Amino acid sequence: MPRPISATISLSSLRHNLRAVATQLEQACTRSRPARPNIWAVIKANAYGHGIDQAVSAFAQADGLAMLDLNEAVRCRELGWTKPILLLEGFFEPGDIPVLDEYRLATALHCQEQLDMLAAAKPARPLDAFVKLNVGMNRLGFSQEAYPDAYRQALDARERGVLNLVGKMSHFARADDDAVVTGQQLDVFNRVAAGLPGRFSVCNSAATLTPGLWTTVPCDEAQWVRPGICLYGASPFADRSAAQLGLLPAMTLAARLISVRDIPQGAGVGYGHTFMAQGPMRIGIVACGYADGYPRHAGTGTPVTVDGVRTQLIGRVSMDMMAVDLTPVPQARVNSPVVLWGHGGPSVDEVAQAAGTIGYELLCAVAPRVPRAIID
Ligand SMILES: *Cc1c(COP(=O)(O)O)cnc(C)c1O
Repeated sequence: MPRPISATISLSSLRHNLRAVATQLEQACTRSRPARPNIWAVIKANAYGHGIDQAVSAFAQADGLAMLDLNEAVRCRELGWTKPILLLEGFFEPGDIPVLDEYRLATALHCQEQLDMLAAAKPARPLDAFVKLNVGMNRLGFSQEAYPDAYRQALDARERGVLNLVGKMSHFARADDDAVVTGQQLDVFNRVAAGLPGRFSVCNSAATLTPGLWTTVPCDEAQWVRPGICLYGASPFADRSAAQLGLLPAMTLAARLISVRDIPQGAGVGYGHTFMAQGPMRIGIVACGYADGYPRHAGTGTPVTVDGVRTQLIGRVSMDMMAVDLTPVPQARVNSPVVLWGHGGPSVDEVAQAAGTIGYELLCAVAPRVPRAIID
């Protein structure tokens, strides 16, 4: 028997979350904005750990897919995805450009080096591109000063038949926690992009789900939003849960108890004995550890569900195992089901918070050794 741990991916939850985002966008429409923006479903990092194949199937209703990795993009085409694909970091060397050409991949253009590579390229068919503006994330993108010239170079490339659609894109640094800074960054985008022709894309999950944000971007051309994390049923916000946003967990990380024991008062549990029993108690050992991608920084008190009952992790997470408190679950025994996060257990965001990180990291970090089960 394989080790009793698995990550179950729910296609229906992925579909539900995409629908929930589309519905929220539709409800935000106004008389002057009668149609919702197009949706790039962001599926980078193996669809946030859920698997490219699953994402391509579940996000069939999305208007496009966005990701970083050329191989993942090619995989989407091989799986039959015919709608647009956007590479969020664009290409890395001249040899990538023929791949963009062959597989019809739209590219971000965020630096002069990419424009230079493009100037020397001769794709058989012109490529679609979004020129990226840095509005204060200070990660990728042209500065406000450099942007108009970069955009002109892209339009020149269109004249030469190297590019087809040329659009504008940006990315907010604080859409999840600071409306004032986000408003300032949006103003920068609106000011710099004003008058430059082309479709545009500025919103990640947090910005997409912030009521009234996308509707305030002036637009006479198509807008594309780029939600990622919310499609997987985790929240982009620290102060609003995925459930409050109407999202369903798409990944359930579950395991079983492989040992149950009674320990006396004063007994230490696990490496370093960071947990000491206050009195006699029953504990369970779960077949999940940090080598499965569970965060080692999750300490005593991190929520976990055993046999449908919410309880807590105790002591240090070790490589292949962790200990849980069975006090509220007296019926638990070897083989009792344990939900680490997801359906029937704590949310991935709760576990992440206990470990000082975010749900994104936990979803992406589930180890290849954990078998995936796909359900519809
Ligand atoms: C990852 C990413 C997104 C999606 O972000 P979420 O917070 O997961 O919604 C959007 N745009 C870019 C450029 C990204 O890198």
